[in-house]
Amino acid sequence: MNTLELSIVVPIYNEEENLDYLFQRLFKVLDNLHTTYEIICINDGSKDKSLDFLIQYSKDYPVIKVINLSRNFGKDIALSAGIDLANGNAVIPIDADLQDPPELIGEMVDLWKQGYDVVYASRRIRQGETWFKKFTAEGFYKVINGLSKISIPHNTGDFRLIDRCVVEAIKRMPEKQRFMKGLFAWVGFKQTAIYFDREPRYQGQTKWNYWKLWNFALDGITSFSFLPLKIWGYVGLIISCLSLIYALYLVIRTLIFGIDVPGYASLMVAILFLGGIQLLTLGIIGEYLGRVYEEVKDRPLYLVRDLYGFDKSGTGYNQEK
Ligand code: UDP
Ligand code: MG
Repeated sequence: MNTLELSIVVPIYNEEENLDYLFQRLFKVLDNLHTTYEIICINDGSKDKSLDFLIQYSKDYPVIKVINLSRNFGKDIALSAGIDLANGNAVIPIDADLQDPPELIGEMVDLWKQGYDVVYASRRIRQGETWFKKFTAEGFYKVINGLSKISIPHNTGDFRLIDRCVVEAIKRMPEKQRFMKGLFAWVGFKQTAIYFDREPRYQGQTKWNYWKLWNFALDGITSFSFLPLKIWGYVGLIISCLSLIYALYLVIRTLIFGIDVPGYASLMVAILFLGGIQLLTLGIIGEYLGRVYEEVKDRPLYLVRDLYGFDKSGTGYNQEK
């Protein structure tokens, strides 16, 4: 039987200013729960002193374990690495910047004990974010939920409690494009939400910019919907029907009124319109194809450089220093 109850999983990329306060708040909450826990920190190729601090922490506190990835792999993959090595009966991914208040963990654990497999924390308001970010985020959830069959809860990040059975399900998903929110929703199980007000980052800067967010949105959509691919078949069908009608009209008109040279405008419009649609379709096929290529290469999802604080026998890695 597994006696370790909770695994807190924290992806960390250049968060040196947040670590002290993060652990202080985590310890306070977790010690009050009177349960067994581990805190797995994944250093996702930080360029600042995060790793040194983490190593020191793992020496001072045996509950803190550190996975040092070989480079920056991105938050979703860092999270997967943490989830893979987590041993607890429930796993809780949480951001290092304290935008996800650790104080909610108690409530999550209560609901988990009541029999829920996933307890996700949904943001009621987003503080410290521009109206444009809120607007685009809202638009993204609308689009992805409209396009895909599974429903991804609005305004929900990765902060949630997931039971061991869901963790095992997630581990069985081999895809390289890890759109975690989608994966968490895809697995199903008994899910429930709690609501909270998201605070601004404690220190430091967000690692997202609009270009990254756009690509993140594309990852989400292409991972969970084929509609962007399928729609062009229908568009093509409609355009073909309209073209056929127009062609018949032109043939009949020519037969009745003779050859009619002017027509430059309609020609140009048709060529440009169809050319545009063809490029767009190719682009969309390319988006999917690139991702298929990524999957087919079947490279490992991440590489671990070293592990600190893990029990050698428990992890299956021999890289511990
Ligand atoms: N993060 C990471 N790798 C990255 C980018 C971010 O592990 O390449 C971590 C980061 O350290 C933080 C969490 O992911 O703990 C959320 O990052 P951030 O606050 O930048 O995202 P936001 O809250 O703006 O969505
Ligand atoms: Mg943040």
